[in-house]
Amino acid sequence: MSGTLYLVPTPIGNLGDVSQRAREILAAADFIAAEDTRVTLKLLNHLGLKKPLISYFEHNKAQRGAQILERLEAGENCALVTDAGTPAISDPGEDLVKLCAQTGVPVCPLPGPCAAVTAISASGLPTGRFCFEGFLSTAKKSRREHLEALREEQRTMIFYEAPHKLLATLEDFSRVFGPEREISLCRELTKIHEEFYRATIGEALARYRETDPKGEFVLVVAGKPEAEPASASEAQAAQRVQELMAQGLSRKDAVKQAAQELGVSRNAVYAAALEV
Ligand code: SAM
Repeated sequence: MSGTLYLVPTPIGNLGDVSQRAREILAAADFIAAEDTRVTLKLLNHLGLKKPLISYFEHNKAQRGAQILERLEAGENCALVTDAGTPAISDPGEDLVKLCAQTGVPVCPLPGPCAAVTAISASGLPTGRFCFEGFLSTAKKSRREHLEALREEQRTMIFYEAPHKLLATLEDFSRVFGPEREISLCRELTKIHEEFYRATIGEALARYRETDPKGEFVLVVAGKPEAEPASASEAQAAQRVQELMAQGLSRKDAVKQAAQELGVSRNAVYAAALEV
């Protein structure tokens, strides 16, 4: 019978956030696959655990993934950890989980620290519907394309960003979403200097043109607001269009007449009439 791949989230800053279950799984696993074994060794020392460690990261994942799968299929249990947070979320793990899913090896995820969820929960922005956008590409073209695809997005958006790229990213946000859009810059989560800076994109830009950004950031950006409701006279015009159409006028003529009667532009009346 094959073993299980456990996905074990680790603290994103505060060591107190390792769960009891994470400790137990790390202690019981046959081996631990880690993004950076030196980082994980520190965590294991903190927990008083000594376990066989192998590395699994972006540049060895193809070959190392196959080796891990072989061991899992032979019946060993593996705990996968990254440097911080939840494996497979902008971190190595996605490919290994896919391999397991394809070959029928059980995958057991533990809930735990994740910068994206921690950030949005306290962002002050709508949490009912959101989308996770991860890191923007460093390549100008794909970065632009990524942001352009989000121009009409109405859900709250979550981005990861490194401090040295923050200013350029805020400039791109301002260009695509506009300087008035609300943003919450969630910095150094769970650490001593934890901060939630809730502002408009324009205000954040002004701040970070003056001050060097320091620490780790999650950027939570409000979605595009729904279209403004029609103004009173437009709403009146829309109603008039309906009356005129009920009297037998075509939509085109009704819009024309209502616009004339109420002194509202034909386009506005037409848009309001469609909304009704
Ligand atoms: N898998 C991790 C998770 O579940 O959050 C994310 C790993 S990703 C490589 C690292 C990025 O997450 C950082 O560049 C930053 O944007 C964000 N991040 C991680 N820890 C953070 C913290 N304590 N405060 C703010 N952002 C953090």
